[in-house]
Amino acid sequence: MKTFETHDDVVFFQRFCASCGLYGGAIDGVVHEDMRSASRKLKEQYEYIRDNEGKFDERSERNIESLLPVAQIIARRMLATSRDLYPLVVKIISGTRTYAEQNALYAIGRTIDPQKKKVTNARGGESNHNFGIAWDVGIFEENGRYMDGSKPNDSKAYQALATAAKAAIPELEWGGDWTSFVDPPHYQLKTGKNAKEIRASFEKGLPFLS
Ligand SMILES: [Zn+2]
Repeated sequence: MKTFETHDDVVFFQRFCASCGLYGGAIDGVVHEDMRSASRKLKEQYEYIRDNEGKFDERSERNIESLLPVAQIIARRMLATSRDLYPLVVKIISGTRTYAEQNALYAIGRTIDPQKKKVTNARGGESNHNFGIAWDVGIFEENGRYMDGSKPNDSKAYQALATAAKAAIPELEWGGDWTSFVDPPHYQLKTGKNAKEIRASFEKGLPFLS
């Protein structure tokens, strides 16, 4: 979780901490003392989970830390299954995005750099990345090449990871199994709810994971 620079950042953090039971105050965009305490508790939980589940590379760690604690556990277990893909290297390259960050991504290929390819169809509040439960992986060849889907072996690697991860972790949902928008790098916690339902709880500061 980054900064408390803007009102929207603070609102986002309040919702995030409320949804994992670490903050019970108002969702009002004002920095309260109990938010700082929530922030410390989040850090402690991240360290506790990391020490128990195993530590990964710096980029993955940064993105894992942005997830809700329960999703951090599942993301680490998923990364652990990627050892079977050796010598390929799997990293978590994206985690939680605030609504503002999601809107900035949505603008690419539209209002910002219209010549560029669009990277998402979700605005702020429409992606599971906005609720702390979703992450994207990148698979890299031994020589460091990012497997971006442009070579035939790329999609096989994403499929192999998903097969191993899903077999080991029942709480996992894979974007490659979706029918409307197939998204092989994407993983999330299985919630049984769609983004719209989660959003309604998240914005009220209510827990949405049963
Ligand atoms: Zn994703």
